[in-house]
Amino acid sequence: MAVLRKILLIGLALIAFANSSVLQSDASALQIKTTEKPSILCSTTQLADFTRNIVGDSFEVKCVLAPGADPHTYMPTPRDAQMAVRATLCIQNGLNLEGKNWMATLAGDAGKPIITAADGVKPLILETDGKKTLDPHAWFSPENAAIYVRNIVSGVASANPSIKWELEARAKLYLAQLRTLDSWIRQMVHMIPLQQRILVTSHDAFNYFAQEFDFKNQAPLGWSTGSEIGAGMTPSRFKAVVDSIKSLGVKAVFVESSVNPKLIRELAREAGVRIGGELYSDSMGAEGSAGETYIGMMRENVLTIVGALK
Ligand SMILES: [Zn+2]
Repeated sequence: MAVLRKILLIGLALIAFANSSVLQSDASALQIKTTEKPSILCSTTQLADFTRNIVGDSFEVKCVLAPGADPHTYMPTPRDAQMAVRATLCIQNGLNLEGKNWMATLAGDAGKPIITAADGVKPLILETDGKKTLDPHAWFSPENAAIYVRNIVSGVASANPSIKWELEARAKLYLAQLRTLDSWIRQMVHMIPLQQRILVTSHDAFNYFAQEFDFKNQAPLGWSTGSEIGAGMTPSRFKAVVDSIKSLGVKAVFVESSVNPKLIRELAREAGVRIGGELYSDSMGAEGSAGETYIGMMRENVLTIVGALK
């Protein structure tokens, strides 16, 4: 009888324990739902990478554009608007990269502060068909990327001053990596003789890179893949690029990851030149690819360019 009662008691105790653990796990699930981590919403993949390198686990970093997407022609979705509403703050490139100001509109509609990462960059001025525009592709100079990083640090620090010191500490490490990247690129491009440093791509994404590392560059689409002023393919622009490929003896032309390769294939055929590979331009590579980070994307681009032009 005593043994039976003991078994019964143990059984009851086990049931009680099981029930309490069910209750506990329900409670913690509820807690996870109610304490969602604060988030930052970035427009481009590069900005998301810079931000992740700075904020650690303090914020979840979300990105509107998927790898390979084109910022010039992007149209925001209701899902983007929801992400903006949930975000603590938004980050855009600026300099009209986000065509028709779609990121500022998303942030404005959600009532969220927005950081413009390219603020303080000395912009290159593009003149096409007599019209002047500011070149938005400033991240292609690692020195400008450092300006982006500093702007992100001060923007996030003003949203959460208590973590300013650790944002600055992470940025210090990342800025050192950007300086190493810069000097590595300088060493690598030295393998290409100066007269062969000509970069032909679909659209004018590589002006900052070209200026920094002594390349000439040409692009039949102009500064944007969209329909902004001074952008888009015209027969005269196409012919001018074909002519200069022929007269300069360009060894190879390049496809871009965020732009349809059709135009460059046509150009290569017309000019009788080979395609040297695909470059990451307005977007980094997909998760798991060698170009999934800013440093990875720059490294792989340089290797592709050096491999084709040296
Ligand atoms: Zn672009």
